Amino acid sequence: MTVESILEKLVAFPVLGGESNLSIIHWIKDYVESHGVETKLVPNEEGTKASLHCRIGPAVDGGVILSGHTDVVPVEGQEWTTDPFVLTDKGDGKLYGRGSCDMKGFLACCLAALPQMIEAHLKKPIYFAFSYDEEIGCLAAPELAREINTYYTETPKYAIIGEPSLMEPIVGQKGIYILETYVNGSAGHSSRIKQEISAIHEAMHLILWLEQKMDQLIADKQLDNRFHPPHSSIHIGLVKGGIAPNIIADKASFYWDLRTIPKDDISSIVAEFEAFCREREEKNRKIFPGFEIKNVEHHPSVPHLDTKADDDIVGLIKKISGNSKLDTVSYAAEAGQFANEGFHAAICGPGSIEQAHRADEFIAIEQLEKGVEMMEKLITELSSEDFL
Ligand SMILES: [Zn+2]
Repeated sequence: MTVESILEKLVAFPVLGGESNLSIIHWIKDYVESHGVETKLVPNEEGTKASLHCRIGPAVDGGVILSGHTDVVPVEGQEWTTDPFVLTDKGDGKLYGRGSCDMKGFLACCLAALPQMIEAHLKKPIYFAFSYDEEIGCLAAPELAREINTYYTETPKYAIIGEPSLMEPIVGQKGIYILETYVNGSAGHSSRIKQEISAIHEAMHLILWLEQKMDQLIADKQLDNRFHPPHSSIHIGLVKGGIAPNIIADKASFYWDLRTIPKDDISSIVAEFEAFCREREEKNRKIFPGFEIKNVEHHPSVPHLDTKADDDIVGLIKKISGNSKLDTVSYAAEAGQFANEGFHAAICGPGSIEQAHRADEFIAIEQLEKGVEMMEKLITELSSEDFL
């Protein structure tokens, strides 16, 4: 199958993050196995979703993992001019469809190159590692990366995460954590604001603390100029609470995210915030014993990626992508999770992140061809006697 016909197939599976991906993962499994390559599924507890991994080439240390996700973001509320789940060639050099760019284009490149990978006399193996639920918090990659480490007797060395990067090597990614904070205060007439504890007023203290924490990190020169912006960010995106101006709100909540540069630590920032919450509880319980602040994580934090410019994976990607300008991103991806499992990881894939998650998402055919070319160069590298 050509890369375009594979992409057409993949786009036709409307598997959103959070939904069962068994349809698309079984199509991939059948495709890979029809080429005589054994695959292994890593199901979730309920058996409704699964990641897939497989090895092409010899069982020796030092191979390369190609990582991608099979889920996409919703199309609801977006004004598409084509059917999002039908890959459409309008004749303008672009292929339109949900996931064409993020990131079924990369999966199609991997799958299209499979026959060549099998035929080549690879000295080091290539692994496919295809996950689910990436779009709702990179939920499946930690287990998949761990499983690859334990399942194979040999140890792969590298991981290329094929998120759309216009084929440029991405060596850094911010860590991301999303939380919801609930404040439980006491209700009453607004005139009694000093006798009751307003959940809104308290939420405001917490929000201000978070903003000041961000400002403090910047003032302390906790900066990393590889990132835009170069500092960790804390942002409150949704606030709820209250009924009327003359009623003290007994409940309030807010939804926020924390995006950290590698030198800041998500857990220590959150621990400091928790300590402040406990302080507020102690103070306010003197007035209202039922006062409580609860922080609930939206999903486990996604770790940062901090691959050094002189790492071997960077050298390899420069060679096979033809691009040598390194970059960083502030979106969540599975790269940091693969790095945490001990693989030398970086992001590089066809298409532009600017087209991701939008109406009329597309991948330029030229990008898809570059993705295939990268696979061919990877095969050449891994067939060479003197590959690192
Ligand atoms: Zn993606």
